[in-house]
Amino acid sequence: MSTLEIRDLQVSVKLPDGELKPILAGVDLTIKSGETHAIMGPNGSGKSTLAYSIAGHPKYEITGGSVTLDGQDILELSVDERARAGLFLAMQYPVEVPGVSVANFLRTAKTAIDGEAPKLRTWAGELRGAMEKLQMDPAFAQRNVNEGFSGGEKKRHEIMQLELLKPKMAILDETDSGLDIDALRVVSEGVNRVRETGATGFLLITHYTRILRYIKPDFVHVFVAGRIVQEGGPELAEELEASGYEKFLTKA
Ligand code: ADP
Ligand code: MG
Ligand code: MG
Repeated sequence: MSTLEIRDLQVSVKLPDGELKPILAGVDLTIKSGETHAIMGPNGSGKSTLAYSIAGHPKYEITGGSVTLDGQDILELSVDERARAGLFLAMQYPVEVPGVSVANFLRTAKTAIDGEAPKLRTWAGELRGAMEKLQMDPAFAQRNVNEGFSGGEKKRHEIMQLELLKPKMAILDETDSGLDIDALRVVSEGVNRVRETGATGFLLITHYTRILRYIKPDFVHVFVAGRIVQEGGPELAEELEASGYEKFLTKA
């Protein structure tokens, strides 16, 4: 079992002129493998900042607090080391990797995380299986990562990574944005398959309640102005669906 512990996390964004703009105002959150947590909040509340800070994006400066994975301080680690420690981040805006095919990218990532290359024969089958489950054309494996990917293809590629890399903690930032209803279902089923293994903890970051109809969170956290202002179960998502963030804004 794995535990991600975020304690009183305070983060500023580095502006181009070198100034620091405070965004996260003390975030506390504990996620155990097998649990699915949803963070919901209005635009600009700092949800992506939380995800990027955990992932180690250089634009964000940690000004206080801690993040540990099974007791290990992950804020001290490089981005690669964080991935090897078992953290997975699906970006709201994934980057293109010119000249690197999906198949090569996944194999390289798998090798880095496991510390040894996957067996060629079983790996090919695993890759094919993951793509079939996501209803993807096998030719997709030969395309360059994120180059000309549609919104749905980007998200499917993220879920492929989840299924193949088997991270301890997965942070999905706005995985539902830009998906049509079929893609949303396929992606949600993928998340639910990984979830059923019980080996991965999920942090689902979202602005809308839509995806939570397909992936039932165990815990819901309302995020406003850089911190969690309310916590509850799945019923909290339904309440937000009905009445929006209005009543929580005054709590921030
Ligand atoms: P969310 O994901 O909840 O929409 P973000 O974490 O993207 O929120 O942004 C939180 C706040 O930080 C916003 O006010 C946003 O304008 C600000 N912010 C984020 N990145 C930058 C940046 N590079 N320069 C200036 N402000 C930024
Ligand atoms: Mg946003
Ligand atoms: Mg965001």
